[in-house]
Amino acid sequence: MDPLDTRFADCLHYATHRRRTGEPFETAIFNTTIYALPGEPQGAYQYARWANPTWTALEEVLSLLEDAETLIFPSGMAAVASVLYSQLRPGDQVLLPSDGYYTVRTAAEKFLAPFGVRLRTCPTAAVEREPLDGLKIVWVETPSNPGLDLADLRAVAQRAHAAGALLVVDNTTMTPIGQRPLELGADVVVSSDTKGVNGHSDALFGHVASRNAEVMAGVRDWRRICGAIPGAFETWLVQRGLDTLELRFSRMCDNAQQLAERLIQHPKVRAVRYPGLTSHPAHALARSQMRGFGALIGITLADAGAAERFIDGCRYVRSATSFGGVHSSAERRARWGEAVADGYVRFSVGCEPPGTLWRDVERALEAVGS
Ligand SMILES: *Cc1c(COP(=O)(O)O)cnc(C)c1O
Repeated sequence: MDPLDTRFADCLHYATHRRRTGEPFETAIFNTTIYALPGEPQGAYQYARWANPTWTALEEVLSLLEDAETLIFPSGMAAVASVLYSQLRPGDQVLLPSDGYYTVRTAAEKFLAPFGVRLRTCPTAAVEREPLDGLKIVWVETPSNPGLDLADLRAVAQRAHAAGALLVVDNTTMTPIGQRPLELGADVVVSSDTKGVNGHSDALFGHVASRNAEVMAGVRDWRRICGAIPGAFETWLVQRGLDTLELRFSRMCDNAQQLAERLIQHPKVRAVRYPGLTSHPAHALARSQMRGFGALIGITLADAGAAERFIDGCRYVRSATSFGGVHSSAERRARWGEAVADGYVRFSVGCEPPGTLWRDVERALEAVGS
C-alpha cells in the first residue's frame, strides 16, 4: 500500500469524515466581509481580509495533501510574491532560474531590485554546480517551463542548507501528486493552482506550503496586511477541482507518456523533450524524484510555420497559453520571445481518451507538410 495513495484518499474524504447527520456534504461559499464580533476581538474570524471559513476548508485539505502548513492565494504570482516579499530584505541575494516562469524574474527585477535585493540567475540544469554562498533564497522550478530541464532537489537542498539558504521550489508543473519537494528537502513549495491543481481553466489561484513556522508566519502576515486574498467562490472552485486531481493527473501523465513515445518516432518531429523518455538527459533523476513524469511535452518541428500548422490542424488540442487543464492545449513558446527554437511547441496534454488524442495529433502532423 502506497502511503501517498492513503493520503490522497484521506484528502478526498476530508470533509465527509467531519459531517454529522443532516449536514451538507460539500463546503459552503461564505461571501462575507465581516463576522459577528461583540466585546473584545477574539477568535479566528474577525475580518474577512484575515480569514474566511471557505479558505479554511481548502487550506485544511491542502495542508493534508502537502503534509505541511498551507496558505492560499488569488493567483500563482500572489503566492510567489508572498514568499519573496516576506522573506527578502535589502542586501539579501536570491538565485532565480534563468529558464523558469519569466514573470517571477520580472517581479524580482521590477519590484525587489529597486529595494536593494540582489538577483542572480542560472539555468535549471546547472543549479547543482552553481556556487550558493551568500544566498538567502535558492529558487528552483523542476521540470523547468518551457524547456523541461530538471534539477536534483535532494542535492540542491543539501547544498542550499550548507550555504545557509532556503530552498523554494515552484512545483506548478508537477502538482503535489507528481512531486513532493518538501519530502526531498525543500523548505517551501509554491504552486500556481491555476494550472493542474484546479485543472479546469476557470480560476486563477495559488498556494504556499512549508514546515518552517517562521516562514509561514511571514507569508501569512504578508497576505493579511497586503490583502492578496482569494475570493470565496474561486476557493470553492479549487476545492472542487482538487477532488479529481489524482485522477486527472494520472490520466494526463499516461496520455503524455504514450504521445511522447509515439512522437519521438514520427518523421515530422525533430525532437521530443519529456522526462519520461529514456532519451531525456535527466531521465534517471526524473525516476528518482517524480511520481509520474507530468503533462508537458516539448516538441520541436521544422520551423514556426510547421508548428503553427500542427497546432491549428488538431481538433482536440487547442491553441492557448497556460497548461495543466483537462483540455489539451499547445503553443509555440518563441511567440513570447523565450529562448527556444522557433518550431518548439509546448504541448499540455489533457484528459482526452488516449487513442482519439493520438489519432488527432498524428493526422495534424501528416498535414503539416515537410
Ligand atoms: C503560471 C505559473 C505561475 C504564475 O501563476 P498565475 O496563477 O498565472 O499567477 C508561476 N509559476 C509557474 C511555473 C507557472 O506556470
